Amino acid sequence: MSGPAAVHRLEDPFAFARASGTHSGQAAIAAMPRLQDRLAGNAGYVSFVVRGGQDQRQRPLLELEIAGNLTLRCDRCLAPLGFPLQLHSAVLLAHVGEVPPDDDDPESPEWIEAGQELDLLELVEDEIVLSLPLSVRHDQGKCGDGAGMSRADGQDKPFSRLAALLNPQQTNTD
Ligand SMILES: [Zn+2]
Repeated sequence: MSGPAAVHRLEDPFAFARASGTHSGQAAIAAMPRLQDRLAGNAGYVSFVVRGGQDQRQRPLLELEIAGNLTLRCDRCLAPLGFPLQLHSAVLLAHVGEVPPDDDDPESPEWIEAGQELDLLELVEDEIVLSLPLSVRHDQGKCGDGAGMSRADGQDKPFSRLAALLNPQQTNTD
């Protein structure tokens, strides 16, 4: 069993990649310090799956899938905004101090340095932080508390009537 409180660490990430290992678990959103200033609430968990493997050039690789629901803050009205997270990414493993300075392949996944063990919760947090858009907002007109409410209804679809006048017959005149 690996519940939310379990330790998620790979004892030897390179062996894990060679053996095509799989490790899944849950990570508490509240336990990700670098995520907190983007959040309007930090209850709950994200679930993740890490799979070991190799890329086409036989380099050790970890594939990650992360899913969950974050509560970000809307940039327009500052109210909470539900943000479904559905991430799929991959990272290449390099021994500490051996990350190639300039990978010639632009398609190549990012490199991470891994020592004798790898903290998966840190990796999951990294991937989430990197994936978040710089700014999120409710859909146009959907801002709730405060700002967005003042000019609500009244002028929805101002052109719908005009369009009807210009095209009285939308039916097919075959
Ligand atoms: Zn908003």
